[in-house]
Amino acid sequence: GVLPGSAPRGTPRLTVVSGPSGVGKSSVLDELREQAPEIYFSVSVTTRPPRAGEIDGVHYHFVGREEFERMIATGEMLEYAHYAGNYYGTPREPVERALESGRPAVLEIELQGARQVRRSMPDAQLVMLLPPSWDDLVHRLTGRMTEDPEVVRRRLETARAELAARSEFDATVVNADVRKAVDELVRLIVGPPAGQSLS
Ligand code: 5GP
Repeated sequence: GVLPGSAPRGTPRLTVVSGPSGVGKSSVLDELREQAPEIYFSVSVTTRPPRAGEIDGVHYHFVGREEFERMIATGEMLEYAHYAGNYYGTPREPVERALESGRPAVLEIELQGARQVRRSMPDAQLVMLLPPSWDDLVHRLTGRMTEDPEVVRRRLETARAELAARSEFDATVVNADVRKAVDELVRLIVGPPAGQSLS
């Protein structure tokens, strides 16, 4: 694994990780957190109500619409988007602080936000997490028994649009095997392991 305090491996930079619903983003990012504790993971602000098990300040900062709109107006958001009826945004300050202190930073955000980061921070790296196949994604999304068919249909539509934007990204990582996907992400975000030459 990658330990904090290992040899410096190039300029820390901002990486955006996007990917359609059902691609397995949370399992990959949970594993990435463990593999590379030096990475700063941005905590987004959202107006969406917390789901069971979500902790304020850990998974998201949960705020009301007024507070979110105040943060937009004061320029506190690095990027934000309206998605599935709610606002989601990245607070600018903690990300800038992490980069200044030498830590690579990761934003896990949707497509509209990724495009804003592309425009406002041209040095940022955009990575899209892909399913092994379209059928695999359909299976994963329809396999979530709790969702009603209309919700699944809308998610598939959004997923199709997101996958269509893959050419706007600097790199794509296929999530066929979580461990391999995480290894690829570590290389993209942190760099190759210390003491090993680029392959
Ligand atoms: P969920 O409600 O399932 O947690 O997230 C819905 C979508 O919002 C996901 O695609 C997630 O990547 C995206 N998202 C989460 N935080 C942010 C953010 O700060 N900005 C943007 N643009 N999208 C976000």
